[in-house]
Amino acid sequence: MTPGPESGARFGFPAGFDASAGFDAPMGLALDEARGALATGDVPVGAVVIGADGTVLGRGHNAREADGDPTAHAEVVAIRAAATRVGSWRLSGATLVVTLEPCTMCAGAIVLARLDRVVFGADDPKAGAVGSLWDAVRDRRLNHRPEVMRGVRADECGALLADFFADRRTAARRPRGGPPSVRAAGPSSKLDDGGVA
Ligand SMILES: [Zn+2]
Repeated sequence: MTPGPESGARFGFPAGFDASAGFDAPMGLALDEARGALATGDVPVGAVVIGADGTVLGRGHNAREADGDPTAHAEVVAIRAAATRVGSWRLSGATLVVTLEPCTMCAGAIVLARLDRVVFGADDPKAGAVGSLWDAVRDRRLNHRPEVMRGVRADECGALLADFFADRRTAARRPRGGPPSVRAAGPSSKLDDGGVA
């Protein structure tokens, strides 16, 4: 790698950094990002990448509908932004904070970016790859295994998603000059409508 002005040793954890202070505030930023997805009808998932000194290096929300891009998950958008800012693909020392448990693609991106830590809010029992359905970031066969923190502001993160899908089901039942298209809204439909993660 070619060290840029903001890359390299700067992202080793400095003595003053206190991760135990928690990630409630960064998760607030991720929640703000998630709400930004609603404008384009995207599933509200948001992410931020925080440097070792607490600097926000990158942020993003799910933009699959907005960009017509199946890989435009919040985590990938935020990781790309952070790598651009740092000037390197290697984000050692940094933490990804995301409102929903990452999918297999995003778990892969987290490992490839050499992120030190992943912090997420709501579990995704349908597609989560950081402990729920798979545990792709802590597989012992991998050289790099980020630290994981789950359940940060999980209720708020989950409620945002539940509200989104509830609104979408209501809209789907609304007649539009023809017979209403009613879809089954069973207990399992909460997070699998868009299958974002
Ligand atoms: Zn994903």
